[in-house]
Amino acid sequence: MSVPFIDFSQQYHAIKDRIDVGLKRVFEKGNFILGEEEKVFETDFAKYCDAAYAVGVNSGTDALYLALAALDIGPGDEVVLPTFSFIATALCVSYTGARPVFVDIQEDTYNIDPQKLKKAITHKTKAILPVHIYGQPADINEIAEIARGHNIPVVEDAAQAHGALYQGRKVGSLGESACFSFYPTKSLGAFGDGGMVVTSNKKIYEKVMMLRDYGRSDRYDHKIKGFNSRLDTVQAVVLSAKLNHLDEWNKMRLDNAAYYCQVLKEAEGIITPVMKQDRTHVFQTFAVRLKNRDAVCDRMKNKGIGVLIHYPIPIHLQEAYADLGYKRGDFPVSERVAGEILSLPMFPHMRREQIQYVCESLKEFITCGGLKGKQ
Ligand SMILES: *Cc1c(COP(=O)(O)O)cnc(C)c1O
Repeated sequence: MSVPFIDFSQQYHAIKDRIDVGLKRVFEKGNFILGEEEKVFETDFAKYCDAAYAVGVNSGTDALYLALAALDIGPGDEVVLPTFSFIATALCVSYTGARPVFVDIQEDTYNIDPQKLKKAITHKTKAILPVHIYGQPADINEIAEIARGHNIPVVEDAAQAHGALYQGRKVGSLGESACFSFYPTKSLGAFGDGGMVVTSNKKIYEKVMMLRDYGRSDRYDHKIKGFNSRLDTVQAVVLSAKLNHLDEWNKMRLDNAAYYCQVLKEAEGIITPVMKQDRTHVFQTFAVRLKNRDAVCDRMKNKGIGVLIHYPIPIHLQEAYADLGYKRGDFPVSERVAGEILSLPMFPHMRREQIQYVCESLKEFITCGGLKGKQ
């Protein structure tokens, strides 16, 4: 047996008819950018997030950048974010000219640590950018309290958490604005790049609307220096079809995760995900921790099991950020987790046999694994 990291073929089957009809209509009308279908998807996605507005953009990275730009963040400012994330969370800050200020994560959930976040705030801090890592919401109450105390907006990096709930509230409605990615492998994925800024703040909404479309207020009337970052109509058709199934697919992911945890419960040397009681984890990524991660990772791959590492290098240690002057040891939890974390195959339509097979292989490689050096 081989188990891919992701297999969306059954997902495609479930939406194929709707996509075929929708795409044909777009092709016939020829309205490929910000067409009617895109507008409909924005409205539906805003509603899905319990927010007032949504603006479709090119990617999750652009969503983050435009959300920060809409807050007038620029050179001389600081934005606080976890170092344990995908690099785009920091890149969007750099694009504005502001400085990314990294914070360590919590050992159990891998989300930003609010106590350490508090200490990273200065008079230059213009936004807090928590990431709902792997699909589990960050500690928003604690973060919001710190933000309120300093009058700083919170921008959610929700690129991994479409549909997750925090104390009954939807991700996407937990801050001043929220940024989603529709990169194909995300739990709501397009057939190409795409992203969305979600907000209930009308000013931010209007600014992002202008920023994504050359800063225009009318066809040839440009109020600000904007960008070209818009969501294609074709992608909106795909995303609308998938949005109808998102809750069902998230539930399937959660069931798969529960089964993984059950099968791995007795296994020694494997740390399974910690789920907080007051929020839902939508398992965009199912990650475990192991001491001999690199050896196990290679063996799993050789056996035909799709595993990946999210993420092997915390952002503060990336070469791209050498200029900020961070060093190894600055964020010990993130550094430790980066050396031990391993993402196992996860997609809604995974079969029980596939999960069993992944778990059995994992247990086998852990015991005969790299520590003993058996080849
Ligand atoms: C995927 C991702 C992004 C970037 O989204 P793109 O659509 O690939 O630009 C940003 N932050 C996090 C946490 C992500 O997982």
